[in-house]
Amino acid sequence: MKTYGHFINGREVPATTSETFPSYAPMTGEILGYAARGTAADVATAVAAARAGFAHWAALPPAERERILLDCATAVEADYDLLLNLLLDESGSTIVKAKYEVLYTASVLRAAAGEVRRLYADTLPNEKPHRLSLVIREPLGVVLVISPFNAPLVLLAKMIAFPLAAGNAVIAKPSEETPLIAIALAQTLSRAGLPAGVFNVVTGFGAECGEPLARHPQINGIALTGSTATGVKIAQIAAASMKRLQLELGGKNPLLVLGDMAMDEAAAIAAVGAFSHAGQICMSSARILVEAPHGKTFAEALARKAASLHLGDLRDERTAYGPLINQRAVEKARQHVQAAREGGGEILTGGELLHGLVFQPTVIWNPPRSGPCWCEETFGPVVSVVEADSFEQMVAIANESDYGLSAGVLTNDLHRGMMAARQIRCGSVHVGAHSFQSDPLAPIGGYGMSGIGRSGGKYSVEHFTELKWISVELGETARPF
Ligand code: NAD
Repeated sequence: MKTYGHFINGREVPATTSETFPSYAPMTGEILGYAARGTAADVATAVAAARAGFAHWAALPPAERERILLDCATAVEADYDLLLNLLLDESGSTIVKAKYEVLYTASVLRAAAGEVRRLYADTLPNEKPHRLSLVIREPLGVVLVISPFNAPLVLLAKMIAFPLAAGNAVIAKPSEETPLIAIALAQTLSRAGLPAGVFNVVTGFGAECGEPLARHPQINGIALTGSTATGVKIAQIAAASMKRLQLELGGKNPLLVLGDMAMDEAAAIAAVGAFSHAGQICMSSARILVEAPHGKTFAEALARKAASLHLGDLRDERTAYGPLINQRAVEKARQHVQAAREGGGEILTGGELLHGLVFQPTVIWNPPRSGPCWCEETFGPVVSVVEADSFEQMVAIANESDYGLSAGVLTNDLHRGMMAARQIRCGSVHVGAHSFQSDPLAPIGGYGMSGIGRSGGKYSVEHFTELKWISVELGETARPF
């Protein structure tokens, strides 16, 4: 069984303690390999490598950084089979999701390469007549990227690509559920010519190595994609040393189904929003609001669709989704379903574990709006449907959440769709689509407990750069004394 090291300064190195931890295939329970178990003792080595990598990378001409990032994209495509198989095995992705994830990763790297030459800033009109004022943009330095398990390749790639485009170096701490994918990505990008020390990976657990990394004074910024609970911890740590912070956290995303829709069509769209990757998507359409009197008709159509989903071999193109990531995730889905049932919700389909970690696609009609199924992120294939009497009530219920990540509005009425888009308090609203959408250049992030800042395209680049005002006196100015 293969053992993988951290990836520091362009090569694999074992943990200082020599300890490892297993990475499991969620579909079979098989151990795929062992990863280095990082601790505080590994942090100094990783930071020193990243500081040296930063000095080299930031000094390269933009055209050179652009070329290397483009080569990285090509290398990801060349390593398609390797990355695809890791996504199938280590993250329990279906073949459809895994293919999308590898190709989208290459696309994200190309989009980031395009940002390298667009680090524009300003010249300013001045109060003082003889002063030239320039605003320039400089990279922050070393950015710590802490990534989740659910889209372990593309989210990691997106979280590193734009800070790299801005001239930063990165240390990534991937999810302990998917360390091997992160090491594979680092090796692919290194082979493509990304210089040593520019992208480093330290594998291990959050408290053991994520926290010491986050505390390190020579880390200048932190990007976390993960749960809101982890986001709160990281924000507290970052505050102590004023680190630049980008947090992409959880959601309980509303999907509004307006009365003009054909309900079978709406249910087919909603099923993709709710059940892709077994609901383990931050933007999953987990709360569905249907305009009266169509609520039950829609919910029954969605239940029929859910019950018909093919749950088989992950390598079979027909398979709609696979396992949850671990037993804790199964327990959470079970508890949410149980609470909905006890609160008077009707389980129209699903609600049980099929086998292993594969949980049935579950549709709940009318759960209590104060319970976990409606208020908390399940991160599983459990979707709740309620009916609302009016458009205004739909929007009001959609906004009854501590989260505000993403929303969808299904309608053919563009006017009402746009009204909803303006009134829903979320980082993104998709009219004519479910809530699970992405684009390399779009600002992804959320309101409220869904996070701070936006990632993607120029928004990430702006976030991970410092602005500096430089002024030049070009003439005599009057002095006060
Ligand atoms: P998680 O919060 O458990 O873990 C995320 C990462 O944080 C992992 O690498 C983990 O090791 C690390 N971590 C945990 N505790 C830490 C600590 N104390 N210090 C430092 N690092 C720590 O989340 P997860 O289960 O891997 O991912 C699922 C969550 O991610 C969901 O809540 C989902 O909504 C969210 N997510 C959000 C987005 C988005 O764009 N907003 C995208 C994907 C996932």
